[in-house]
Amino acid sequence: MASTRADIPPEAPALLTIDLAALRKNYRKIKALTKNAVCAAVVKADAYGVGARRAVEVLADEGCDTFFIATLDEARVVRQVAPQSTLYGLGGLLPGTEALYAEIDLRPILGSLEEIEDWAAFARERGERFPAALHIDTGMNRLGLRAVDLEKLINPPSPLEDFDVSLVMSHLACSDEPDNPRNETQRQTFETLRAMLETAPASLANSGGVFLGPAFHYDVVRPGIALYGGRATKLGREAMDPVVHLEGRILQIKQAEPGETVGYGATHMLKRTTRIAIVAAGYADGYIRALSSSDARDGAVVFIGEHEAPILGRVSMDLIAVDVTGLPQELVVRGAFVELLGHHVGVDDLATIAGTIGYEILTNLGQRYHRIYVDE
Ligand SMILES: *Cc1c(COP(=O)(O)O)cnc(C)c1O
Repeated sequence: MASTRADIPPEAPALLTIDLAALRKNYRKIKALTKNAVCAAVVKADAYGVGARRAVEVLADEGCDTFFIATLDEARVVRQVAPQSTLYGLGGLLPGTEALYAEIDLRPILGSLEEIEDWAAFARERGERFPAALHIDTGMNRLGLRAVDLEKLINPPSPLEDFDVSLVMSHLACSDEPDNPRNETQRQTFETLRAMLETAPASLANSGGVFLGPAFHYDVVRPGIALYGGRATKLGREAMDPVVHLEGRILQIKQAEPGETVGYGATHMLKRTTRIAIVAAGYADGYIRALSSSDARDGAVVFIGEHEAPILGRVSMDLIAVDVTGLPQELVVRGAFVELLGHHVGVDDLATIAGTIGYEILTNLGQRYHRIYVDE
């Protein structure tokens, strides 16, 4: 993507390009699928590594006015960029943080009776019906209120009378498996439990939930991963545009002979005369070690132009070795960029090889890349 650009400093070993136009496109695509719902955006963990500031800027420009984050620090960033937006905190309410939420107009998502009591007490004390969401646990057994909690809550005098319940939400455990019957079971539990409360706007769908169809959309959808180009379901039918492009520079090219090994642990023995390119990126950059190859298993591949080059041996902290035997000489030159992640190598391709999920690949991308944002 960027190897043709002239404005990259010669000292930059690796380049992370964030394609904001792709982010816009992905948002529009999800929004078009969820016409009757508010299409919010989950921008926790620095917008899954792409950079919350820039992500929120372009999403707000696309008309997104509701954001979800996990921590107060993340909320403060969003508040600066989108001062008028509706902002929800997924992280639950820690004791003593009520005023910090109110100060930046951040709405907590309350998932226990204790959190609700604290928020209600704070609202009474300030004499203001500060809005908050309620999180109902419909089977995930992570955050959220269970049926027994709701029964206690609806008996007067209820702390729910002291503040404004602006959203009732739950979270799906298996939305990445469209055929899993647990999705419908959770949806029905959500119906039953939210009926115990006074009517409020409802939200159930993360990215995977969006693709489960309109019955899962309710009033607000909360996509994260799909916005950033990750696969939301195991079927992968809902292909999104890649937002993250990672390239590393070739530092050195050499030739080695059959029987020689490459890298730490000498895990990969060459079977033929091999041209090796050493590329400047490694596990300290989030190109995780599980992408390594050995005699027993293939690792990740990189792309040089349209040509595939497999990893040789273990991923080091700052370096990888790739097999460039037979690739056009003019492409394999010192200083040239090779694609580690982007149009040819998807986030989920890497995740599959590493035995993880796209979320973990994106949120692990390191901080020492030269980073550029393009918006077409
Ligand atoms: C992270 C998160 C989301 C977004 O999930 P994706 O699978 O990335 O779309 C939505 N809701 C909750 C409660 C979350 O924690």
